[in-house]
Amino acid sequence: MITLAAFVGSPTNDPDVVNSNMLQVALTGELPPHRIGHYRNQQGGLIRLQIGEGGIVTAVLSELTLNRENYQSLATQIWNTPGNSGKIHVEGLGGYLYLRVILESGGDTIIVLQEVKSTFESFLAFASRIGPTLIFGLALIFFASLSITQRALRPIRKVWDRQVEFTADASHELRTPLSVIQLNLEAATDDPAETIEDNKQWFDNIKAEIDRMAKLVNDLLTLSRSDSGVQTVVKQDFSLDIVLNKVVGIMQPYARSKNIQLESDIEAGLVMSGDQELICRLAVILLDNAIKYTPAAGRVQITAHANGRQLLIKVTDTGMGIGVENIQQIFNRFYREDKSRSGDVDGSGLGLSLAKWIVSAHGGTISVSSKVTKGSEFTVSFFHG
Ligand code: ADP
Repeated sequence: MITLAAFVGSPTNDPDVVNSNMLQVALTGELPPHRIGHYRNQQGGLIRLQIGEGGIVTAVLSELTLNRENYQSLATQIWNTPGNSGKIHVEGLGGYLYLRVILESGGDTIIVLQEVKSTFESFLAFASRIGPTLIFGLALIFFASLSITQRALRPIRKVWDRQVEFTADASHELRTPLSVIQLNLEAATDDPAETIEDNKQWFDNIKAEIDRMAKLVNDLLTLSRSDSGVQTVVKQDFSLDIVLNKVVGIMQPYARSKNIQLESDIEAGLVMSGDQELICRLAVILLDNAIKYTPAAGRVQITAHANGRQLLIKVTDTGMGIGVENIQQIFNRFYREDKSRSGDVDGSGLGLSLAKWIVSAHGGTISVSSKVTKGSEFTVSFFHG
């Protein structure tokens, strides 16, 4: 586009321009000084022939490098053609515009020829002149647009890759409970003579897996809704202390079953603006993990206090802790620490990523400090007012 515009705007074979050039050459006996190099290549060369008696060329002034016979054959053809201007074509030499002038002084005939270049030839001449600049410019534009496109696509590619990874991980996680259910069902229905009571163990396993799967699907749904922006956070003032105490009550039987001491120190009258249901889920995730990753006879504590405009919730345990090398990753989806350390503790690796989303959807922060075999402390901080 740029090339064409420049080409159209450059010197042309416009007959008026050409004729005035030619007349000037005829009268002055000189070639225009500026017509050098590319201009001449693009417009076509000028020739001034002085013709003596019998149509013989006596003097040549030329921008082209033709031999004497060539100039003579051009001159002869024009000499034998009626009219003082026009266009001729000479085999092997191409087309020319010509102008014939008889000088008053001396009566010599002057023939001026202007090489006629086809538009394509002119374009080629033009292109060869600006070739390197053009190639450099196009290469520059190409690489610039490539880099801009790649930069623009980067976030889309990241989201896409994450989505692909998410789907693969989710399918993998769902496959496990499904095959466990299938195996247990096969075992339970193996012998038609047996009663349901006889197969209670298999049915209990199936129920546990269905519960696990329901929780997983629920977490997946919340995360994918949060990704697409569909998951809404309904913010309302609620009593944080009441919600947290309720969660502690719900988690007590689980802690007791593992012989873990679950303690709470929750300030009364804490008011928070947020989605009560999601904050409840956040507390469940943190307490569930604390109990899950703490061996028997350990201790888990939840504290909640207001500190000026800040609401601080801490969940501390005396459990297995998290390796320094893994601490950055525990909030990533589906991330679980090495099984050899966590033993056969059940989980999907979605809890903390959900916790992180809940906290940030409320404008808060979540952090962790941990020491392997000593325990972990998760700190959540919200602002209110
Ligand atoms: P899940 O518990 O289902 O595996 P989470 O996302 O809740 O998934 O946690 C991710 C990983 O972080 C866990 O697999 C575990 O390795 C580590 N983790 C989380 N909480 C604790 C904790 N309180 N103590 C030790 N490790 C923990």
